[in-house]
Amino acid sequence: MKFGGTSVEDAAAMRNVVEIVRKEATSARQRGDAAPMVITSACAGITNKLIMLAEIAAQGKRSEAKDVLKAIKSHHQKIVAELIQSDTKPLNEQLSELFDDLSNFIKALDVFGELTPRLLDSVASNGELFSSLILARALNDAEVRTVWVDAREALITDDSFGKAQPLWDIVEKNAQEKILPHLHAGTVVLSQGYLGATMSGKTTTLGRGGSDYSAAIFGAALGASAIQIWTDVDGVLTTDPRLVPEARRLKVMTFREAAELAYFGAKVLHPSTIRPAVKQNIPVYVLNSKRPHIEGTLITNAVQSFEGMMKSIAHKKGQVIVNLTSTQMLDAYGFLYKVSKVFADYQTPIDMISTSEVSISLTIGDATHLDKIVAELESIAEVEIERNIAIVCVVGDNLRAAPGVAARIFSALAQQRINIKMISQGASEINIGFAVDEKDAQTAVKALHQEFFSEVLSSTIFA
Ligand code: ASP
Ligand code: MG
Repeated sequence: MKFGGTSVEDAAAMRNVVEIVRKEATSARQRGDAAPMVITSACAGITNKLIMLAEIAAQGKRSEAKDVLKAIKSHHQKIVAELIQSDTKPLNEQLSELFDDLSNFIKALDVFGELTPRLLDSVASNGELFSSLILARALNDAEVRTVWVDAREALITDDSFGKAQPLWDIVEKNAQEKILPHLHAGTVVLSQGYLGATMSGKTTTLGRGGSDYSAAIFGAALGASAIQIWTDVDGVLTTDPRLVPEARRLKVMTFREAAELAYFGAKVLHPSTIRPAVKQNIPVYVLNSKRPHIEGTLITNAVQSFEGMMKSIAHKKGQVIVNLTSTQMLDAYGFLYKVSKVFADYQTPIDMISTSEVSISLTIGDATHLDKIVAELESIAEVEIERNIAIVCVVGDNLRAAPGVAARIFSALAQQRINIKMISQGASEINIGFAVDEKDAQTAVKALHQEFFSEVLSSTIFA
C-alpha cells in the first residue's frame, strides 16, 4: 500500500490512512494472509521545500534557509500535535534528531557553497523519514501493530544519486529476510518511498515522484499479490474532468495503456512503476485515500474486451515544436543521429517525432537549453520553433486494430477548425499523439471525448 504526498499531507489525511491500513490489515488477517507493507511519500510539498532549502543554503542565503527549515519543522510538529494522542516525547525526539542533522547539513552547504547530487539526496530524503515516523506512531496508537523500517536498510541501490536504480538481488534478499517475517507474523511494515542507500550506506533517491517506484520495487521483491497506489484522484479517468465534466473513471485498463498515459503527462502513475509490477504480473490499483469507498482503477496485464476504441485522452501544455528542414537529409544516412545527439548533449528528452525525406519535426517539453540546441542545429538544418504548443495523446489497446480512427480524429478536430501541427503514432500502435496550439487544447480534448466516448459510456469498464 503506497500513500502519496496528499494522502499524508496533514493530520486529517493521515487519519484516513490509518483507517485504510487498519481495514486492510484486518481483512488480511481474516483471510489468513500476511499483513500489508505500507510505503509513504513525504507530506505534499515538503520534498520541494527540502530541495529549495538545499539550494538556497548552498547559495549562502543562510537566514532564508533557516526560515524554510522552520516551516518544514512546524508543519510536522503541527501534525504531531493534532494527530498523536499518546506521549509525543519519543516521536518528537526522533524528529528533532533529523531536524538537527538537517540544520548541520545547511551549515555545511553554506560553508562549501556547492550542492552535489549526493548532498541533495541526503537533504531531499528527509521528507519521507518525517512522514513515516509520524504515521508509524499513529498506526501503533490506533492498535494497528506496525514496525518502522528504514528503507536504506532494504532498498539498496547503485550510486546514481538523484536517479538511483535498485540492486535487485540484494533488495529481494533484504525484503525476504527483513520485511516478510514481520508481515507473516501479522505486523504491518511501514517504510519510506523515494529513498534508498548504496551498499556503503550513502542515502540515495530514485528521482522525483519515486515513491510509486519504491512501492513497485518492494511489491515485486516481496511477491505481493497486489499493489495499491493511494492518491487524491478516484483512479484513471477517460480525460481531465476539469476540461470535460463528462469524464468517467476507468474500472480497469492494461499496463501498456497506463504506461503510454503516464508518459503523456497523466499524473497518476510514475512510468517506472510499471516495470517491476508488469514483469511479475502484479495488479496495481489506483485509489483515492480521501474517498476510500470508491473502487479505483485496476491496472493489469489482462486485456479486457471493450467495444470502444480509446480508453483515455491525455494532454500536456507548454510544449515546443522544433521543425528542421535540410536537403542534407536526402538520400543520406546519419542525419537523425546528428539531430538527436544535439538534444542528448543538452539532456533534453524528445517526446514526439515525425520525419519526411527532407524534414524532421519533434517536440520537447523542457525548453531550458533550447537556445543552445537551436544554435547547434542551425549548422545542419534550417530551424523553426513553435512555442505554446499542447500535445494531445489518445490511448487504447483497440487502436491497434481499429481502421479509420485517424480519420475520425481528424474530422472531429476539423469540425472545430483546429489546426493539427504534427502527428505521430507510437510503435506500440496503441497511442496516437498530435500537437495543436495551446489555446485549442481544451476544444480538441472535448471534441475527441464527445466523438469517441459518448457511444460507449455504458460499457462495463467505466464507472
Ligand atoms: N516525495 C518525493 C517527491 O515529491 C517522492 C514522491 O512523492 O513520490 O518527489
Ligand atoms: Mg509525491
